[in-house]
Amino acid sequence: MKKLPVCKACISGSLCLSCQERFDEGKVTQFDIDLANDLLILEEKYPELKNASFYQAVDIGSTVFLVIGQGQRSRFKKELLDELCDLYELPGIDLIEKGSVKKMIEQIIGPDVRLLGVNQIYIPTGETEYKIIISQEDKDRIRIPINDLQKASSLIIREITKVSFI
Ligand SMILES: [Zn+2]
Repeated sequence: MKKLPVCKACISGSLCLSCQERFDEGKVTQFDIDLANDLLILEEKYPELKNASFYQAVDIGSTVFLVIGQGQRSRFKKELLDELCDLYELPGIDLIEKGSVKKMIEQIIGPDVRLLGVNQIYIPTGETEYKIIISQEDKDRIRIPINDLQKASSLIIREITKVSFI
């Protein structure tokens, strides 16, 4: 694996200062670390993983989004994903290639929904929020509940993300 949510040394041992900080902030979870460990072991069986990157896993119950490197979808074979699903008793895994905010949200909402826009909003506290704009007509085509979409998007983009329909 090229990139993982924590340093390779931190996967089997205790976390270094920087990884511990990200863990405490909730930017890295135990599930991320466990998956990173599995992927390193599975490199033996799936050598195409050697040049692949895994950034984060977001479990929303009905599926788990795995954020991977850009253009690396084919490196995460169906057999590999099935194996991970069996191991953790997951209903499914959906791959999200790292990219622009818009590109990642498009992958989260699924191919049947048109993303009309993503607006970055500056709020008085100095933070930014994202507003995902989707057509009313597509509301029922989003593959996951709106709450889960907002939760997953917020975790993947690492900014509060809200959905609005027009
Ligand atoms: Zn570390």
